[in-house]
This record gives sequence, structure tokens and C-alpha cells, in this order.
Amino acid sequence: MATWCENCDRPVNGSTCEICGDEVAEVVRQPVPWRWRFFIVVTIVYVGWRIYQLVSWLAH
Ligand SMILES: [Zn+2]
Repeated sequence: MATWCENCDRPVNGSTCEICGDEVAEVVRQPVPWRWRFFIVVTIVYVGWRIYQLVSWLAH
């Protein structure tokens, strides 16, 4: 992902500008989308449920 050097006003590959040698801050990342959080929560619940089933199956 290309970053932008404010001093040289040009795109920069990597985290350091080749022209002025300044550290270039990466573009602020978007917060984790709520769909991802939802997906992760559903996955955790599903895996937990599967483990519960497996344990109860093994117990019998
Ligand atoms: Zn620069």
C-alpha cells in the first residue's frame, strides 16, 4: 500500500521517503468492520458449540 510524503508531496513505497529520508506515517487504517467482529463472534460460538458437542459425545 502506497503512502504519501507530506514534505515532497509524492507517493512513497515503504515507510521511509527515498527523497528526504523522513518516516512516512502509514495511511490510518479503517477500524475493524462490524461484519468482521460479527463473523469472529459467530465462529467462536460455533467452535465452542462443536467442542461442547464433542465433549458430551465423548462423555456418553
Ligand atoms: Zn519526502
